[in-house]
Amino acid sequence: MRRTIGFLACLASVALVIACSSVAFTGRNRMLLYSDSEIASLSNESYNEMMTTAKVSDNKAQAAMIQEVGERITTALTKYLASKGELSLLEGINWSFRLVSDDQVNAFCMPGGQVVFYEGIMPLLDTPDLVAVVMGHEIAHALARHGNERMSQQALSSVVGAVTGQVVEQKTSQNGRILFEAAFAVGSEYCYLLPYSRKHESEADEIGLYIMAIAGYDITQAPVLWKRMSQNNSQYVPEFMSTHPSDATRIKNLEKHMDRARKIASEVQ
Ligand SMILES: [Zn+2]
Repeated sequence: MRRTIGFLACLASVALVIACSSVAFTGRNRMLLYSDSEIASLSNESYNEMMTTAKVSDNKAQAAMIQEVGERITTALTKYLASKGELSLLEGINWSFRLVSDDQVNAFCMPGGQVVFYEGIMPLLDTPDLVAVVMGHEIAHALARHGNERMSQQALSSVVGAVTGQVVEQKTSQNGRILFEAAFAVGSEYCYLLPYSRKHESEADEIGLYIMAIAGYDITQAPVLWKRMSQNNSQYVPEFMSTHPSDATRIKNLEKHMDRARKIASEVQ
């Protein structure tokens, strides 16, 4: 019992030290138990493994559009954060942009910054502004450390369930990999990220809007894209649709953030 109390006290103090951080742009407080470098190395390892089986698209025009939008958005974001003295928000993130040959209507971003679009989503994204909506949303997940937060929540729920010394081990890098793969389903034959919570999805929508605004993309295309998505009768549920509120709610939420997105955009022009 004493060991258990000691362990919980130790964990609580660890959590308190690491918990003090807030999400970029929204300021929401959250708890992160993993360092950026731990997450980056797990992310890089899983991504490299995934890309050994994924087929890179040979559609040069579409791949070039993904690359251009990705570079423009991340360059503008880096410049913006530098101007605010907040470059540390990008620690552990190295952006890359890939188009993969796969019919699924999907796109995702690994916590380490590796953005992957599937060919199947491209018919819905026929302009750079529409690509920027999805790119902004995906990049927002990485910037907001949603992956780290999800892993931290899972680690803590294991603590509550088990209350044994094993849980401490779970935070070591060896077991961190198991937790990471459980959280992201990477390495599975489908190679996609498990759905984020609705809260994370809504937050990625909001931050994504600010990010595309910073890069000078047309933010009015965000609701246009979600309308298109809802009309698309795909059987597959993509990462960014899976746990979402209805499209009507989503579009209403986006409208709420348009003014702030325009204000943020005006700061960089
Ligand atoms: Zn998402």
